[in-house]
Amino acid sequence: MFETVIGLEVHVQLNTKTKLFCSCATSFNHKQNTNTCPTCLALPGALPVLNKEVLHKAIMLGTAIDATINRTSYFDRKSYFYPDSPSAYQITQLYTPVVEHGKLRIDFEDGTHKTIRINRAHIEADAGKNIHEGDISKVDLNRAGTPLLEIVSEPDMRNSEEVILYLKKLHSIIRYLDIGDANMQEGSFRVDVNVSIRPKGDEKLYTRVEIKNINSFKFIQKAIELEVARQKEAWEDGVYEKEICQETRLFDQTKQETRSMRGKEEAADYRYFPEPDLLKAVVTDAMMVEFSVIPELPDQKMARFVSEYGMNEYSASVLTSSVEMAHFFEAMMAEGISAKNALTWLTTELQGRLKGEMNITNSPVDAKKLGHLVKRIEDGTISGKAAKEVLDYLMENESDVDSVIDTLGLKQVSDTGAIEAICDAVIAANPDKAEEYRSGKDKLFGFFVGQVMKESKGSANPQTVNELLKAKLG
Ligand code: ADP
Ligand code: MG
Ligand code: ZN
Repeated sequence: MFETVIGLEVHVQLNTKTKLFCSCATSFNHKQNTNTCPTCLALPGALPVLNKEVLHKAIMLGTAIDATINRTSYFDRKSYFYPDSPSAYQITQLYTPVVEHGKLRIDFEDGTHKTIRINRAHIEADAGKNIHEGDISKVDLNRAGTPLLEIVSEPDMRNSEEVILYLKKLHSIIRYLDIGDANMQEGSFRVDVNVSIRPKGDEKLYTRVEIKNINSFKFIQKAIELEVARQKEAWEDGVYEKEICQETRLFDQTKQETRSMRGKEEAADYRYFPEPDLLKAVVTDAMMVEFSVIPELPDQKMARFVSEYGMNEYSASVLTSSVEMAHFFEAMMAEGISAKNALTWLTTELQGRLKGEMNITNSPVDAKKLGHLVKRIEDGTISGKAAKEVLDYLMENESDVDSVIDTLGLKQVSDTGAIEAICDAVIAANPDKAEEYRSGKDKLFGFFVGQVMKESKGSANPQTVNELLKAKLG
């Protein structure tokens, strides 16, 4: 019997305005090689200066994962040659990272949970990009020197389910903190998966294989499955020692296999040494106070939604599944409506109407409008049915709730006099049915309600109709 052992390294691109050690913009989609300067081009004589915003965001993450913040941290040089790195070294934090010894809780569907230890989160500079076009390759250095936070877990995960839960939680925390876009497809949340196996009960760690750059949760799951199978097979065939070596592999989604990319370098191969051009990074008391202020995190928000609004955990988890969703819900609540209605109108009515490229962030109906629409149901101005029509209209047309209610003539009639007249007319027109109802055929009540609603063209307040008919039919 084997046990799978997995540790993750996640590179998060921080959404600072400027790069890690210079004042070049970090923005995307600019003309190639325009966001560069002597520092990020590594021209001789140019000196790096640490961007304080990076330290701020690293400390926010450290606070969110309950980690130790090193009040003094250092930078180191990791040497390697690759065309997208003009300096031929990367500035990183090997010996004393800014964030150490954190933890992240993952929750399973059956209600149990597990804590995954985080070894460290260190600051480092990203490389540029090599762009291959047929026979020629080009280098774009716009990304060179943008800040990354590398978050390294302990080898605490035992299967792909735990891996995905860990990654989703980490992703969500980064979005809630708003320290990065964390977009897997665009490469601002890059995952390296380290996998090994061992006989169950064995405490020691066996040879690990690192699988690099897998850009979706689905592929991560598949890559782990394939790699574990490969290692088990080697063990069972008696060729484990020979075939499983510490190396970097890549996941080929078309061939559905992991393949050797390069032998894994040992630290010595990188000739690490303390970066001589930078000062140590010191976090003063004042910075510590300022930088460790963080917004409400997903778990806390979820617990609050449960206790404050009395909703079940499932609903609360849907509403806190993304920061955009949570903020949308909270903005609706600011209109002074009930949580139950806000939940339904957001998750069923609005989301059911968001098609194709549309999502909660670019929805034609924003949170304030949707909240206002719900308010108009709650204060009796329109019926729930009419509100659906208003929403349909607003999905297609730029307008506001109250004008649409007017334009479409959907205002509910709660005026007893007007409804009473319709009730009398309906009863008068159906004397036989009224008689049957009075002699015990209760089912006919629905018929009368239906007729009155029809006569009023759906504008009568159903509650008022019910009350009046009950009284009149005796
Ligand atoms: P490097 O930076 O050279 O890749 P680290 O020691 O920082 O190496 O470890 C990288 C990741 O590999 C960590 O997430 C760690 O938990 C994980 N790891 C280390 N040993 C094993 C192992 N035997 N099996 C699975 N994961 C491992
Ligand atoms: Mg690594
Ligand atoms: Zn620059």
